[in-house]
Amino acid sequence: ILPLKTIEEVSEDVEKWASQKKEELDNLRRNEAFRKEFLMNLSHELKTPIFAVQGYIHTLLDGAMEDPTVNKMFLKNATKNIDRLCGLLDDLDEISKLESGEMTINTEIFVIQDLVRDVFDTLSLKAKQKEIKFSIKKGCEAPVQVLADKEKVRQVLINLIDNSIKYGKQQGSTVASIYNLDGKTLLVEISDDGIGMQEEHLPRVFERFYRTDKARSRDIGGTGLGLAIVKHIIEAHGQTINVRSKPDVGSTFGFTLETVRE
Ligand code: ADP
Repeated sequence: ILPLKTIEEVSEDVEKWASQKKEELDNLRRNEAFRKEFLMNLSHELKTPIFAVQGYIHTLLDGAMEDPTVNKMFLKNATKNIDRLCGLLDDLDEISKLESGEMTINTEIFVIQDLVRDVFDTLSLKAKQKEIKFSIKKGCEAPVQVLADKEKVRQVLINLIDNSIKYGKQQGSTVASIYNLDGKTLLVEISDDGIGMQEEHLPRVFERFYRTDKARSRDIGGTGLGLAIVKHIIEAHGQTINVRSKPDVGSTFGFTLETVRE
């Protein structure tokens, strides 16, 4: 027979149980609010391009098809919206994989400068359109080996460098810097001299669908998921990411990676 508990012990147990239950309930509520907000954002993001396509098609069928200049323009606009929708679906696919823990990190050793140059090449056409110059900061060119998932880090660099073009100024520049912090950790920074951001936005830019200036960003044509994906990937590596920025001066996104001692 177990010894009976004292009144104090029993009431302590009850209180412990109650606070545990309260915590569980708070968590459930938070998740529920999170899900609601996510669904609201998502349906808004889906509706915008779908309604636009619907509008163009109806207008074409209602007679705009007869005018060759108008019909070409409408079809072009409809295509642009479909492309936007496809981009959004790709990002959503990616983010749901990341969030359901389905992401596996396959690490390998590679030279970070080579990957940065690769991504510069991939985005060179886009940069050319805005006459933006890419470079690796002087003094950071010596090859450094990292241990990480190369394809995922490529995705991170693509998203950050693509943003540096989208939010960069005409004839601006994007600079990649690589610093060895303590022999074990590397800091990779992507800096631009573009539109920048107000201080108040900085803690929130890694949230899904968060945009600093909705109208302007939408004009630029993003999904608002790029930085959320970036953050997931970096955190899955057990590393960190941060941002500093000043309006009309520019932004710097910096993330850490594990280096390999030579
Ligand atoms: P988006 O698809 O809108 O670019 P992101 O998740 O990549 O989504 O970025 C979120 C928001 O953060 C952007 O809409 C933009 O307002 C801001 N942002 C991201 N990168 C930069 C940058 N390099 N300069 C200025 N603002 C940026």
